Amino acid sequence: MDGFNWQGGQAYRPLGGWVERPDDLQPQLDGDVSADVVVAGGGFAGLSTALELAARGAKVIVLEREFAGFGASGRNAGYLAGGQGLEYDLFLKRVGHQQAREIVRFYDEGVDYVERKLAEYAIDCDYNASGIIRAGVHPSQERKLRKSMRTGVQLGSPGEFLDYAAMRARGIPPAFLFGCHVPRGGTLDPGKYVLGLRRAALRAGVKLYENTPVLSWDEGPTVRVRTAKGSASAPFLVLATNAYTPQLGLLRNKVMPLRVSAIETEPLSSAQLASLGWPRREGIVTSHWTMESHRLTARNTLVLTTKRLRYIYGAQTPNVPDEASYRALARALHERFPMLGGVAIRSCWSGYISLAYDALPVVGAAGADRNILYTAGCSGHGVGTQSLMGLLLAERIRGAEHPLLSALHHRTPSTLPEPLQWCAVNSALGVANMMDDRVNRKARYAARS
Ligand SMILES: Cc1cc2nc3c(=O)[nH]c(=O)nc-3n(C[C@H](O)[C@H](O)[C@H](O)COP(=O)(O)OP(=O)(O)OC[C@H]3O[C@@H](n4cnc5c(N)ncnc54)[C@H](O)[C@@H]3O)c2cc1C
Repeated sequence: MDGFNWQGGQAYRPLGGWVERPDDLQPQLDGDVSADVVVAGGGFAGLSTALELAARGAKVIVLEREFAGFGASGRNAGYLAGGQGLEYDLFLKRVGHQQAREIVRFYDEGVDYVERKLAEYAIDCDYNASGIIRAGVHPSQERKLRKSMRTGVQLGSPGEFLDYAAMRARGIPPAFLFGCHVPRGGTLDPGKYVLGLRRAALRAGVKLYENTPVLSWDEGPTVRVRTAKGSASAPFLVLATNAYTPQLGLLRNKVMPLRVSAIETEPLSSAQLASLGWPRREGIVTSHWTMESHRLTARNTLVLTTKRLRYIYGAQTPNVPDEASYRALARALHERFPMLGGVAIRSCWSGYISLAYDALPVVGAAGADRNILYTAGCSGHGVGTQSLMGLLLAERIRGAEHPLLSALHHRTPSTLPEPLQWCAVNSALGVANMMDDRVNRKARYAARS
């Protein structure tokens, strides 16, 4: 019945579809070293922090378990998106309108920050500043989409409703019936972006040790970080390990890792591209409870992500395939783009985001000396926000608190202990899937009639 082309395990890529292990892999830490700041984790957050600190004259060490870009930063969908379409319902009442406005400004500023840094570090990552469309595939999604758009606008982030005619006038593929166009941001190649940050950091004199997991640390005015073959000491430690942080014993009761999956098609032929229309190639996300994201890449492939999220018992993050999610994404590909005639899937992969129960960033300081800084959360919005976090953390370390960092102060709700968390999260995700499947059935029925 489905008729889509699914190759199963053949297409799985353990490092995701955008990056390979770098040829200039940096050496593992061997011995005892010291610096002004030690950063754990080489994703957008860790590399941006290191770059901002280096620009302020600090000596910085980055310790990365695999290679810089291994985590979500090298695996995401590449939407550089701001504060429109956030999960407002989860935090608006908790923080109030004024702080919510500041938080939305933080997300929007994340977009501007990345745009500035791409130019400053001369990173070519195929950025297409097309804006983003949050779209509906069935009329039953319109109310929720309009409400979310209105809230975003009230909180200061622009968005414009596109009805059926406006969507067709833009050449958006017909499965997407209406939408909210968010003018800010667009899509980029996240692999090129994170490896560009890695290159910029090496150029700026940041000392990067790869294949070097942080194992533990000793607190104190100088933090001593232990690795398999040595240690790195500094007055500050920045934990930029995001979804992997709970495994280090921190934020276990604040964030949970969620597995997000992606598929990518073979490059589309000119005829297939022409059949899509889509001249501006805006990144499209749907207004399902668990969204679908659909975007074209500079290599003329289609990348689809999300649709199914997974929580693994005990906040684990195994780097393994998620066949059920790839199958669900392949089905969405077939249903949203029937004109592609079952185009083959060339790769599929998964990665981990971290999510707080209120969906807000989790940033702060730990340790008796408050010199162990951490940044996590930002869930599926980390391209802009975790990059901007580098500036905020660097300023904090240099003794000045940026107003956007102050804006993020709030009480993160505590997560449930296991096995309650596993039961609660997977039940909630199951309910979201059921509601989304219902919408999809209605959309399928409407498309046939
Ligand atoms: C499939 C997918 C699609 C997504 N799509 C989007 C999108 O379109 N737009 C968007 O804004 N966001 C998206 N996200 C989320 C976004 O990618 C993340 O929020 C962001 O990359 C997080 O950056 P980070 O630097 O905080 O963490 P990460 O990139 O995960 O970096 C953490 C690093 O820490 C390292 N590490 C872990 N443990 C240790 C240790 N013990 N010692 C040393 N190093 C360690 C890891 O190897 C990793 O390199 C998506 C995520 C996924 C998985």
